[in-house]
Parts: sequence; C-alpha cells; structure tokens
Amino acid sequence: MLRNATCGQLRSENQGRTVALAGWVDSLRDHSGVLFVNLRDRYGITQITITPSVGEEMFELVRSLRNEDVIRVVGTVQPRPVGIVNTKIATGEIEVKASEVVVLNRTAVVPFLPGAPEIPSEETRLKYRYLDLRRPQMQKTLELRHRITKVMRDYFDEHDFLEVETPMLGKSTPEGARDYLVPSRVNPGTFYALPQSPQLYKQILMIAGYDRYVQIARCFRDEDLRADRQPEFTQLDLEMSFVEMDDIIDMVSGLVQRLMKEVLGRDMPLPIPRMEYAEAMERFGHDAPDLRFGMELVDLTELAKTVDFRVFRSVAESGGRVRAINAPGAAERYSRKDIDGLNQWVIEHFGAKGIAWLKVDPDGRLAGPIAKNFKPEELERIKEKLEAKPGDFLLFSADAFETTCKVLNGLRRRLASELKLIDPNEMNFCWIVHFPMFAWDEEDGVAGGGRYVAMHHPFTAPRTEDVPLLDSDPGKLKAQAYDLVLNGFEVGGGTIRIHDGTIQHKVFELLGLAEETCRSMFGFLLDALSFGAPPHGGIALGLDRLVMLFAGLDNIRDCIAFPKTAKAADLMTGAPSPVAEKQLEELAIKTATIQNVTLKNADADLEKKE
Ligand code: ASP
Repeated sequence: MLRNATCGQLRSENQGRTVALAGWVDSLRDHSGVLFVNLRDRYGITQITITPSVGEEMFELVRSLRNEDVIRVVGTVQPRPVGIVNTKIATGEIEVKASEVVVLNRTAVVPFLPGAPEIPSEETRLKYRYLDLRRPQMQKTLELRHRITKVMRDYFDEHDFLEVETPMLGKSTPEGARDYLVPSRVNPGTFYALPQSPQLYKQILMIAGYDRYVQIARCFRDEDLRADRQPEFTQLDLEMSFVEMDDIIDMVSGLVQRLMKEVLGRDMPLPIPRMEYAEAMERFGHDAPDLRFGMELVDLTELAKTVDFRVFRSVAESGGRVRAINAPGAAERYSRKDIDGLNQWVIEHFGAKGIAWLKVDPDGRLAGPIAKNFKPEELERIKEKLEAKPGDFLLFSADAFETTCKVLNGLRRRLASELKLIDPNEMNFCWIVHFPMFAWDEEDGVAGGGRYVAMHHPFTAPRTEDVPLLDSDPGKLKAQAYDLVLNGFEVGGGTIRIHDGTIQHKVFELLGLAEETCRSMFGFLLDALSFGAPPHGGIALGLDRLVMLFAGLDNIRDCIAFPKTAKAADLMTGAPSPVAEKQLEELAIKTATIQNVTLKNADADLEKKE
C-alpha cells in the first residue's frame, strides 16, 4: 500500500499512529539540523519532521528534495510542540515524524510553484495547467463544482427527472450564434454541427413522452469571446411536460435553495422575488439587475418637457427619455477630472452623447455646470424626484430609451463598485419574467431593411392572452420567458415552448424564414409537433458562471479545468492546430491556404479525363 492516510486527514486524536503518506513537496525547511517538509495532496498539507535519526543517507536524500518532487513518507503522528501549532490549517496540531522517506518521482525545474502565494500570469497558468491545477485554490473550486453538479443530479433524480444524453454531432440550425462544424467523411461535403444547446432534442424528448429530462450538457458557440465566455461551456439543461411558467420557476427555485444549503451552508427563504422585464428596464436599465444595492433609475422625462434647459427638453419632446441616478454621498468622491473620465467612458462604451451631472452642496443647493439652466423651482423638483440630500451626486442621461438604459446601468454598477456599496458575501437571486418575444434588428432582413429576431429562441411561446398580437402587432408580444439572475448576472434562461405547429409556423414566418428554409432546417420539429406534442417548457442554467458566483470568483476560466483563451486556444495542447493534408483529403476539404495546389491537381485530373 502506497499510503494509508491523506495529507489533510490527521488530527491530534491520531497521535501515536504509524502512517504512510504520499504527495508533493510543498516546501522544505532546515531548522538547525531538523528538516521540515510540508507535504501536499488534494486534501491538504501535513508537516513532516525528519531528524538525523533516520540515518545519514536518508537525511541527505530529504535535504536534496526540491519543491514539487513526489515522495512517500512513513512515520508516526505526534503533537506539534506548543508554539508551532498552526491554526490556519486543519492538520496544524500534529506533525508526522518520519522513519522512512522514498522519492517516487523527481520534478524538473518548475516554471512556478503551485504552493507559492503569488499567482503567475494567466498565459503561464494555462500553458502549464497541470501545475496550476495543483494550486489549492483551483482544487477547491473544482471540488465545489463537483459538489454543485452532485446536488443537481440528486435533486432532479428525487423529482423524477431522467438524465438523457443528446448527440454531440447534430444538425446545423442557426439558433443565434455561429456553429462549430464537423465534416462528415462518409458523406463528403456535408457537416455536422456541435450543439449550441440540446434545445430541439429536449423538446423531442417531451413529445416522446419522457416527461422530465435533465442533462449537464456541453454546448458550443463560435462567437467572439468576451471575458466571461468560452467556446465550449456547460449548461444544466432541463425540460418538463404539462407545465406552466410557475412550475419551472418553482422547480428551479427549489434547486437554488438546495444548492445554497448544501454547497454554502446557508438558509434561503422562498419564493425568490420576481420582476417583470419591463419593470427591470425601468428601474435598473438592465434585464439582469444587481439588486444588492439601490441607486435605482429615476425618470424625469415629463419634468424635462417643462424645463428651459434645451438639451433635456428636446430629447424629452422627441420621444427620448431623461433619466437619472443618485449616488448617495458621492459628491466629494468624484472630482471634475473623475467626471470627465466617466463622461468619456459612457461615450466610448455605450454610444451615448455624454452625461450631465449635479452635486448637492452641504447647504442643500444643487451645483454643477448645468445648474444655471434651471429655475429654482425646477431644481427643487429634481431634488425631490431623486430624493437628493446634501453630499449626493446626481448623474443624468438624456437619450433614446435603450441608450439611457445602457448608460445608467453602466454607471450604476461602476459607481456601486467604486463606492463599495456591494456586500461581496450576499447572494441575491431574482427572476425576470415576460421578456418581449421579438426584438427588431435594424441591420438584418431583406435588403437590410430590418427584421424581427427572437429574443430568446424561435421555439418560445407567447403569453396565451397575447396570441392575437401575432397577427396584429408582433412587436408588442410578451413571451412566457424567464431568466434567473444572481448578483446582476444572468445565470439561466428558459421559456414555455410553442407546442402548436400552426403557431410555430407563424413565428418562423415572422422571423423571416422562408417556407423551404423552414422545412429543411426544422422540418423534423414541425413533423414532431404534429404528432401529439404536450405543453412543455424548460430552462438552462450556465454551470460555469454559477460555479464562479458560488465560489466568489470573478473569472470563469478559474472554474473550468481546461479552459480556452480569448482567441479560443488551448495553450497547453496547442489546439486548434493544422492537420495533415491526408486528413483533409479524406474529408474532401480544401482550406483556403492549400486551395491553389489542390485546385491545380483537380484541374489536371479533369484534363486527363477529357
Ligand atoms: N436552450 C436555451 C439556451 O441554451 C435554454 C432553454 O430555453 O431551455 O439558452
């Protein structure tokens, strides 16, 4: 037996026990002729003490150890002398006095030490991921990830869900993002697509009578990566039959409560608060509002129509909005230079014209470059509306509705973080419901004249009472759609689906999908819907992001064992990489870079035949 205990296991009650431990040398110290090795494995760190009594050869062997060498130690558990008890680690009351040390493997010089407090550059971490994954923080996060998926599986098993695997090699059906394609060798010139989500398969499973489906599913989207996106990511994906929106919300709320209890040891009361999409946009300017702090958006459009200040009045009169937030007590914190910075930021990031601002003086008067444009009673009204007190900092956005949303949501989040208004330990969940069915995409559509696009996906059902709007005013349709939001992040989204072929057809039509396109892409779904489809709906939660928030981290790559960079590369293996020409030939693929050569060959072949 190589070991009979782990490095995180031994306590003072194990005193006197002879143990065998194995692991990595985390550190080695020489204290006046006694050697101390901190031995590390996934479970923790145990201090090993080696005295010259082990014999000169073994003593010298230990002295020659390098950090990250792999060793086996046999010894006796003994209490640490008073004064060197380490309360910071679980094994801190004991040490193992070694009688035998064997080197299992020597390490080459490592580019960084997993046990060191300083964290190397992300590039280095990703290149030597095996060393990075040795860091206790990474091991803790992946353990937490395991705990979360275990609770999920238990919970859904208890609620009669079946875990069903859906194919990785599927059909390319544009569902928003670009597909990752896989060429078919046996059907030259054709391609599979890696799933963007198991959406259609899970709906088909409902039509097939499986009632409750769940899967921890890998999904692929070939998008330009943002900081918290990965080309492949994991979703907790589920679907239920004979349900309404409330049933899905209740089922997932129960899961969240269970995760809070079993993963974080926290009690969470239900129900999770709900907010209409339209209300979220009014109060927070965003569909995933961070409710851990106030600074809600206040509408001043009506007031703006009556003031002399032309910048506000003309926007308000021409269908735009004038809205503001009040950063409490922040007047002193933001200098003119800071405010110029904020102004530049909203112009660059949100395509805004800029911001206007006012500060409340200690004597309660509003001050700032735009103050002179208002009558005293107008300033009073602004103060009243924003509940402004001495020392407050007021920021205004006058623009199209969408722009005011982006600007004030951006400022609200940025200021909350700069003013430290957020309790980092809070876990604040809410549901946002009844999203619009469609958004209008100005640049798309026939001859770029604009067209409707599905806000969630084209299989989403409108609210029952809204169905007539499909013919009369599709832009006003609200969907049976719901997002789960945690601390200002969307962590999940789902919908009740269309189970009526006629409505599904109509939605495809509104989305500008021609009859043949529809048939060739979704014919199987339309067929399936015609063979007795039950009412059904579901949701998917982004597992990587959920883990990130439960772990209190701010980087999604730290929650994935082998993540990719912003350029979708795996720095450890070197993927993606060129392949042998023979492989391409077998797949009947010509890439642009070798195309000339292959084309010439193809031409030569043709000439020969003629
Ligand atoms: N398939 C959807 C998504 O990946 C989730 C759902 O509607 O269940 O966003």
